Amino acid sequence: MSECIFCKIVAGQIPCAKVYEDDHVLAFLDINPLMPGHTLLITKKHAETIFDLSAEEAAACGAALPKVASAVFKAMGAEGMNILQNNYEISGQEIFHVHFHLMPRKTGDGFKVPWPAK
Ligand code: C5P
Repeated sequence: MSECIFCKIVAGQIPCAKVYEDDHVLAFLDINPLMPGHTLLITKKHAETIFDLSAEEAAACGAALPKVASAVFKAMGAEGMNILQNNYEISGQEIFHVHFHLMPRKTGDGFKVPWPAK
């Protein structure tokens, strides 16, 4: 059995607050959210980074991302959204199973993006 924590979430061995699921991806609330509604969208099949995704898994992420992002955006009454995806340690990746951070933004939420922006 894989020791990957996200594989264990996919397998139902570790609980999650599920937001969305289809045959290829799972979305759930981040356990340590940077803001309310911080959601992770992960592939069900294990791949360490975006460079390891098959074309099928990449297409599934591409199809699910706008749907899940839109649902989170509306549910949170957000004013904007950052979508972040880290690959390898230098970028900040801690869990080596592909995931996208969907981060709904609101005025005064205190979140700072790492480049000049509002
Ligand atoms: O991109 P990075 O690998 O740094 O992000 C990993 C994310 O996975 C973190 O935001 C962390 O809070 C989240 N996480 C989670 N549930 C776990 C373990 C980590 O939501 N059981």
